[in-house]
Amino acid sequence: MKKLILATHNRHKCDELSAMIDGNWEVVSLDDINITEDIPETGNTFMENARQKAEYVRQRMGDDVEILADDSGLEVSALNGEPGVRSARYAGETHNDSANTAMLLENLKGTNDRSARFVTVLAYMHNGKTEYFEGEVKGTIIDECRGNGGFGYDPVFVPLGYEQTFAELPAEVKNSMSHRGNAFRAWKESLER
Ligand code: IMP
Repeated sequence: MKKLILATHNRHKCDELSAMIDGNWEVVSLDDINITEDIPETGNTFMENARQKAEYVRQRMGDDVEILADDSGLEVSALNGEPGVRSARYAGETHNDSANTAMLLENLKGTNDRSARFVTVLAYMHNGKTEYFEGEVKGTIIDECRGNGGFGYDPVFVPLGYEQTFAELPAEVKNSMSHRGNAFRAWKESLER
């Protein structure tokens, strides 16, 4: 069985990826390989951050492992792409989903253009090379929180073609169209080519 290190502490991301790929792969998290600290994310783009995470793991584990690292965020048109790479820290250095969402709604008060997208960039580091894959989902930001599922900005994000927010839609429905799901699918399709 081939081992794939997903450079995250988030077990849900590993489960989401495992469910999508065939049984020839074992997906392990950072905690599974005894990397317990948070990997620094100091890049100005999703790509730089994804690469930084993958490279951190490569330096610890060597060149013979397969590494996938993801970086995601929300880009809002009326805010010139903010919060972008600062999505997790929009309202301050301590990651706080509800404070971030409240700040977003405050900054969009009175704004007619509510269009936004979630973006994920994946860096796939293997055999001394790095490949990148991107996934997105377009939608709009409503002006109040709705729903209890998901995380982050899910309660205010309504994907195109739907009336419910990501926090109201079942997880399978979100995963079937999400930025992360689309990036994972793009990576998987490249393996099948
Ligand atoms: P990460 O790179 O996946 O850790 O995402 C960084 C930040 O982007 C998160 O802390 C959230 O604020 C936001 N974000 C990323 N993906 C999602 C999502 O699927 N729903 C809501 N917020 C998200």
